[in-house]
Amino acid sequence: MKILVINSGSSSIKYKFFDMPRNKLLTCGKIEHIGEEGSDIINHYTGLKLILGKIDSVDAVGHRVVHGAETFKKPVIVDDSVIKKIKQCCSIAPLHNPANLAGILACNKLLAGVKQVAVFDTAFHQTIPDYAYIYGLPYEFYTKFNIRKYGFHGTSHEYVAHEAAHILKKPIDKLKVITCHLGNGCSICAVDKGKSVDTSMGFTPLEGLVMGTRCGDVDPALITHIMRKKRLDMHEMDNLLNKASGLKGISGISNDMRILETKANSGDMRARLARDIFAYRIRKYIGAYITVMSGCDCLVFTGGIGENQATIRKKITKNLFNHFRKSPKILVIPTNEELMIAKQTFKLIKG
Ligand code: AMP
Repeated sequence: MKILVINSGSSSIKYKFFDMPRNKLLTCGKIEHIGEEGSDIINHYTGLKLILGKIDSVDAVGHRVVHGAETFKKPVIVDDSVIKKIKQCCSIAPLHNPANLAGILACNKLLAGVKQVAVFDTAFHQTIPDYAYIYGLPYEFYTKFNIRKYGFHGTSHEYVAHEAAHILKKPIDKLKVITCHLGNGCSICAVDKGKSVDTSMGFTPLEGLVMGTRCGDVDPALITHIMRKKRLDMHEMDNLLNKASGLKGISGISNDMRILETKANSGDMRARLARDIFAYRIRKYIGAYITVMSGCDCLVFTGGIGENQATIRKKITKNLFNHFRKSPKILVIPTNEELMIAKQTFKLIKG
């Protein structure tokens, strides 16, 4: 079965085309500048048309959808009611879901009759218990406005946790795994017996670890304090937290960990500090998740930094498991969210 996996963003469509169940990548690519001034690609429909011109005989399509709220706990075959429900999730994911939906609607027109599956970044985390996902806010904020921890990168965490079980030759339901997805966006997940029981990102992908340009956990009282002090409006504050903070904000140099490593090694104090804060926050979360699961059999690193930067991994794991009788295995596993989406699409369609 030939499966087209689509990751549709606001101005781009990334795609990978697989032959399943052989897990064979046939081709992949990216269409950019959709809807931008001066671009010929006026919308997602035009973008998808270009992609379909490069491949043939699509049997099914798997879509990455960022937010499934509490509605979607697993992948689903797309129909009118699913489209309506994804639309309803747009209010809590205004930056992502409308773009994901644009990809689905373009496929509806251009590949009429071809089955489409939506795979949600949040779905894997729907097993997190209520005491871990409810914030210490008035409870009505959860019941009326759906404010709770959702978590993201779910497809990646699920994929690498299963790969770890495969590598260790152990059933996933016998393992306690901590997965660290460290890229430009970073999150960490406690996977107990194959189920997510806690994760660092929250209502949005801003919570948790220090990331490329996102601050991660801060004292919430800082938000109003900074807005008053710097006379920032909501949009400016949002920008500060999401785009000017994290590694970039601390170092004043870059959000690229490769550059920071080089600068830190040549004595730049703020680059060193950014790297140390990054590693320290991850160690703190790993410690918390060992406690949450009463143990850990395996720690997995993935994402651009997790896969490629051994010195950062060393910094995070130095003496980390000294108090363990048997040290957990530490694995580096390249993530492949698109393959996971293709696998889930195949599984759902084959029934
Ligand atoms: P990602 O968002 O997963 O693409 O990861 C981006 C981050 O990974 C950046 O901070 C990069 O500096 C870091 N990185 C380190 N080594 C590499 C590499 N070989 N390829 C891509 N990203 C890398």
